[in-house]
Amino acid sequence: MSRVLVIGAGGVSSVVVKKCAMLPEYFDEIHLASRTLAKCERLQAEAGKDRVVGVYQVDADNVDELVALIEKVQPALVINVALPYQDLPIMDACLATGVHYLDTANYEPKDEAKFEYSWQWAYHDRFKEAGLMALLGSGFDPGVTNVFTAYAAKHYFDEIHYLDIVDCNGGDHGQAFATNFNPEINIREITQRGKYWEDGEWKETDPISVRKDLDYPGVGVRASYLLFHEELESIVKHFPTIKRARFWMTFGDAYLNHLRVLEGIGMTSIQPIDFNGQQIAPLEFLKAVLPNPGSLAEGYEGLTCIGTYITGIKDGKEKTIFIYNNCDHAACNREVGAQAVSYTTGVPAMIGASLMLENIWMKPGVWNMEQFDPDPFMDRLNKYGLPWQVVDVEKNPLADD
Ligand code: NDP
Repeated sequence: MSRVLVIGAGGVSSVVVKKCAMLPEYFDEIHLASRTLAKCERLQAEAGKDRVVGVYQVDADNVDELVALIEKVQPALVINVALPYQDLPIMDACLATGVHYLDTANYEPKDEAKFEYSWQWAYHDRFKEAGLMALLGSGFDPGVTNVFTAYAAKHYFDEIHYLDIVDCNGGDHGQAFATNFNPEINIREITQRGKYWEDGEWKETDPISVRKDLDYPGVGVRASYLLFHEELESIVKHFPTIKRARFWMTFGDAYLNHLRVLEGIGMTSIQPIDFNGQQIAPLEFLKAVLPNPGSLAEGYEGLTCIGTYITGIKDGKEKTIFIYNNCDHAACNREVGAQAVSYTTGVPAMIGASLMLENIWMKPGVWNMEQFDPDPFMDRLNKYGLPWQVVDVEKNPLADD
C-alpha cells in the first residue's frame, strides 16, 4: 500500500504533489490537506483528480483534527510540507495513528527562531517503540546537502575534516523584493545570528556580516554570506571528525537593502504588537503583503547552484571535492509550473517518500538524511530532475576565510 497524505498546499507542496502524481509506481494514491481547501482543490485540478483522489481542510496545529483526518485517509506515510510550526502536532498525530512521517524543515516554536532539532530528536524512542519512522529534512538544504555529505564520506574520504555548504540562487524573478520560500520562515532564518562549527564548538557572528565573493558553476561570481542552517547541527553530530562546518547563501544588494530597511522599522519581528486591538506579528503581516513564492515561477530566469565543498583525508592524503547541482528556474516552470527553489525542495521530499515506501530507507525511529545509505537517493536525484556532479578541486575557495 503506497497511499500518501500530503499536508500543506504551498509552493513546495505543488512540486511534491505533481512529482508524486507522475510516479504511480511509487505512489498509488495521493491525498492532500491544508488550511485553505481552495488551494488543495486548485492543486488537485492541476495534478489530476485520478491521482490526487482526496482533498481536505485541516488545521495542522490541532492534533485531534489531524488524527481524525489520518484515520479517515489511512495513509502509509504523511508528507509534511506545511510550516515548521506544524511538525510536532503532525508527529504526534502520526504516533497516535501508526503512520510514518517525513518533513523538509525542523520544528520551530512560533515566538523565537531556533532552527534546531532538539524537539524532534526527543521523539526518537517513541517512534522506535511504535515501529514507525520519521525522516527529517528531506528537502535540498537540509536534505540533499546531508546526503551529499554521506555520499562523499562513503565514496571519497576516509575522514571528513572541513565542510562548506554553498547555496546560490542565480535567478531573477523581476520583483523588487520577494522570498523564494515561505517569507516568514525565510526571513527568520536570515535575520538570526550567524553560527558555524569549529574545533568542537559553535561560534557566532552578527547576522549577514561575513561575506565572500564566490564563483558558482553555471552562475558566476556572487556575494555569499555566512548563515546558520539547520543541517549543520545534524551533520557535525553524525560526522564527528569534522573540524569546521559552515553554510553560505547568496544575496543581492537590493534584497539586503530591503531587508535592512524592513528590519530597521521592526517589520521582521515575530513578537506580536497591538494593532487596533488585535495582536499582529509584524513578520506575519509582511508575509501577507509580499509576493507568494509559488507565484514567482512565470518569467523566472537563471540557475540555482547548491553544493558542498568537502576537504578530508583519503589514503593518507588531503583532498577536496565540490559536489553540486544546478537547477534551471525556467525548466522547472515548464515541467511542473514551479520555480527552482520549490522544485529543489519538492523533488527530494518525493524521493525520500519513495525510498520509505519501498522499504529501501526504512527503520523505526527519528532520523536525519545522512543516516541512510546515500546511493539510492543519489540515483533518484539523477533520475527525477536534480542531476549532480562531483569535481576534484585544488583548494576549497573558502578555506582561508
Ligand atoms: P508556503 O507558505 O508556500 O506553504 C505552506 C503551506 O502550509 C500553505 O499551503 C499553508 O496554508 C499551509 N499551512 C500553514 N499553516 C497551516 C496549518 N496550521 N494547517 C494546515 N496547513 C497549514 O511554504 P513553502 O511551500 O515555501 O514551504 C513549505 C515548507 O518547506 C516549509 O516548512 C519550509 O521551511 C520548507 N522548505 C524547506 C527547504 C529545504 O530545502 N529543506 C527549502 C524551502 C522550504 P495556506 O495556504 O492557507 O497559508
